[in-house]
Amino acid sequence: MHRAMTTRSMRLYLASAVLCCVVYFFVPADTWAQTGLAVGIGYLAVAAIAVGVRRRRPVGQGAWWWFAAGLFCNATGQVVEVIYTRVLHDDSWPSPAVYVYFALYPCLIAGAVHLSWIRTSWRNWTAMVDATTIATGFGLLTWVFIIGPAVGAPHVDLGTQLWGVLFPAGDILLIAMMVRLLLGGGTRNASFRLLTASLLVFLAGDVAWAVINQIAWDPPTAVQRILSTNYFVAYLLMGAAALHPSVREIGERATTPERGLSRRLLVVLTAASLIAPGLLAMELLRGRVVDGLAIVISSIALFLLVITRMAQLLREIDTQAQQLRLLARVDELTGLPNRRSWASELPQAIERARRDRTPLVVAMLDLDYFKKFNDEFGHPAGDRLLKGAAAAWTAELRAVDQLARYGGEEFIVLLPGAAGAEAVEILARLRAATPAGQSFSAGAAVWNGAETSDELVARADQALYEAKAAGRRQTVVAAVHEVV
Ligand code: GH3
Ligand code: MG
Ligand code: MG
Repeated sequence: MHRAMTTRSMRLYLASAVLCCVVYFFVPADTWAQTGLAVGIGYLAVAAIAVGVRRRRPVGQGAWWWFAAGLFCNATGQVVEVIYTRVLHDDSWPSPAVYVYFALYPCLIAGAVHLSWIRTSWRNWTAMVDATTIATGFGLLTWVFIIGPAVGAPHVDLGTQLWGVLFPAGDILLIAMMVRLLLGGGTRNASFRLLTASLLVFLAGDVAWAVINQIAWDPPTAVQRILSTNYFVAYLLMGAAALHPSVREIGERATTPERGLSRRLLVVLTAASLIAPGLLAMELLRGRVVDGLAIVISSIALFLLVITRMAQLLREIDTQAQQLRLLARVDELTGLPNRRSWASELPQAIERARRDRTPLVVAMLDLDYFKKFNDEFGHPAGDRLLKGAAAAWTAELRAVDQLARYGGEEFIVLLPGAAGAEAVEILARLRAATPAGQSFSAGAAVWNGAETSDELVARADQALYEAKAAGRRQTVVAAVHEVV
C-alpha cells in the first residue's frame, strides 16, 4: 500500500516535471510566467527531495538536505534577480542574486562530501588522489581558458573578477567530489545513478556555457532555452533520486572491496596528467607562453599525485605479498607452520647440530583413532581437537622446538639438543596434554650425524608406523644407523 503510494508520487512528479519543461520551452521569454515556471521547477525538485527523505528515511539524510538547500537557493536566486531587474530596475552586475545562485555549489559539494564520507570514509585515499588528479587537470584547463581571461580582461571590476573565479572553481570542486563519490566504492543503485546523472547534466550545462562564452557566440533564444531546460533536468533528476525507493541504501557503508585501477580510469588519469604539457605545447606553438606559472604549478602537483598513487599501489602490492607469504607458510586451521615451512627449516637445524655437536631429534606424531573421533563427535569437533592439541602442545614445548602440522592429523616436531630418552619424555608430556582424553602415537629419530633431512624424516615415519603397530599411545625411537 505504502509502496504503491510512493510509486504514484514518483509518477506524478515525473509527469509534472516533463510538463513544466515542455511548457517552459514555449512561454514567452522575460515574462513573469517564465520566471514563475523556472522557479516552480526548482521548488518542485526541492519538494521531491523533502518528500523522499521524509518517507524513505535514507541513511545519510544530511546529504539530501544539503542538496535540497542548494536547489532551493538556486531557484530563489531567480526570484531575487527579477526583483532587482524588473521591480527595482537595477541592472548592475554582479547582481546581489549572484550570492544566492552561488550557494548551490557549496551545498552540492557538502552533500557529495557527506555521502562519500558515510559510504567509505576518508580512508579511501586512492579515490581521493584520483579525484584530485582529474580535478587538477580540469582546473588548469579552466584556468587557462576561463578564469585567466576573465580575470585578466581589461576594464573589469573586482566583483566580476571574483565571480569569474568562484563559479569555475565551484565547478572544479564539484567535479572532484563527484569523481571521489564515483570511485570511492559503495552501492550504485538506481538512486545513485540518478544522483550522478543530475550532477553530470548540471556540469555539462556549465561547460556548455563556458564554451559558448569562450567562442564569444550569442546563442539564439532556442539554444538558451535548451540550456535552461538542461539545468531543470539536472534538478528534476536530483528530486527523482530522492524519491526513488533505493535512496534508502545510497548512504550505506561500502561492503565490496575497492575497485582496482581499471583500464578506463587509467586512461582518464593519463589524459588528466597530459593536460599540463599539452597546454604548454599549445602555447609554445602559438609563440607565447602566457600561463607558464600555472602550468608549472599544476605539473608539479600532477607529478606528486602520480607518485603518491604509485606509492599507494606499491604499498598495496607489498601488503598482499606479505599476506601471500604468510598464507604459504602457515596452516590455516591450527596456525602452526605447515609442512613446507617446517621442511625448509630442517637443513639449517641439522647444520647447527653439526657445528655445535649437539643432538637433534625429529618426531612424527599421528592422532590415534582420529577417524573414530570424527565419526562420533563430528568433523567440526575434530577440527577443534586439532586446534586445541596444537595449542596445548605448543604450550608444553620450548621456544627452540619447532612444531608443524604435517597434514591431516599428522604433526612433526623438531627437538634440538634432545637425545632419545629426553625426546620420549617430552612426547609423553605432549601426549598427556592432548585435549579430550585423546592420544597420539609417535616415531622419533635421533640425527645420526651424517644423514640428510629426508633420510631423518623417513626414519621417524618408519618408527611411527612401528608405534601404531605396537598398539598406539606410545613413542618408538628409531634405531640409530651406523655412521660410516
Ligand atoms: P590411526 O590410529 O591408525 O591413526 O587411526 P586414524 O583414524 O587416526 O587414522 P586414519 O589415517 O585412518 O584417519 C585419519 C582421519 O583424520 C581421517 C580424516 O577424516 C581425519 N582428518 C584428517 N584431516 C582432518 C581435519 O583437518 N579435520 C578433521 N576433523 N579431520 C581430519
Ligand atoms: Mg594418519
Ligand atoms: Mg591417526
